Amino acid sequence: MPSRMELYFFSGGYGGISPIEGGRFNLCLLVTRDTFLRSGGTVRAMLDRATRLNPALGQRLQGGEPLSETEVAVAPVDTERQGTPWDTAACIGDAAVMMPPLCGDGQAMAFRSAELYAPLLDALLHGRRSLADVRATYTATWHREFDGPVRTGRWLQALLNVRGLSDGLISLGHFVPALAQGFVHATRGRPRPLTSVTPIAGAAAMNAPDALRVGTVGDGGGDL
Ligand SMILES: Cc1cc2nc3c(=O)[nH]c(=O)nc-3n(C[C@H](O)[C@H](O)[C@H](O)COP(=O)(O)OP(=O)(O)OC[C@H]3O[C@@H](n4cnc5c(N)ncnc54)[C@H](O)[C@@H]3O)c2cc1C
Repeated sequence: MPSRMELYFFSGGYGGISPIEGGRFNLCLLVTRDTFLRSGGTVRAMLDRATRLNPALGQRLQGGEPLSETEVAVAPVDTERQGTPWDTAACIGDAAVMMPPLCGDGQAMAFRSAELYAPLLDALLHGRRSLADVRATYTATWHREFDGPVRTGRWLQALLNVRGLSDGLISLGHFVPALAQGFVHATRGRPRPLTSVTPIAGAAAMNAPDALRVGTVGDGGGDL
């Protein structure tokens, strides 16, 4: 198999195949709860259904040997939850927002949000900023950095999940590579030095220990 990331769309979800170490490949599907249950409610049955719905995926997997010890599933995955950089505490990574997985940038976003928050937390702990100031600055910076990519990623995911439209869009990206590249860039944050974090004046004081709590992924109800 070629050394590149491949995406396959089918009714009720999509899947990606990417090369990993040792000549192996990672296959990851994102499907609606309904699609998963209708397929039989197991990872293997879901995979069978996906390969039936998209024969190109079936062809690609032909001759491959599944490694059952690596089989995992996670739910729910809510890619529609509103971005919340601050709940009762600062939220980092997926706790703040879930980027649609097809963009392949969730991990970088998680690192970047930690990078944005770390100096603010340091300033808070050393008494250089109030909690209200830290909260306002992190919230504003987070929205400035991530709102655009998340909006574009969600829009792209919605379009690619429309039956009949995904083939057309993929062909368009094939014939106009600059367009595909444009979407890749639009679903990613622009790398910036930390010095560009702009302080925003805050007022009210809050309990400092709140700023130390790490937010966890919310219990979203959506499934695509
Ligand atoms: C199907 C799918 C495919 C994806 N594909 C890609 C991809 O190709 N590329 C990419 O960059 N990203 C991808 N992502 C997104 C990526 O996985 C996440 O964006 C990234 O892992 C977020 O990192 P995180 O540290 O915020 O959260 P996580 O990686 O979820 O880490 C949070 C950790 O905290 C633990 N935890 C939660 N609550 C508690 C608690 N109360 N106490 C202690 N521990 C707790 C969890 O068990 C977990 O280990 C994909 C996601 C999905 C669902």
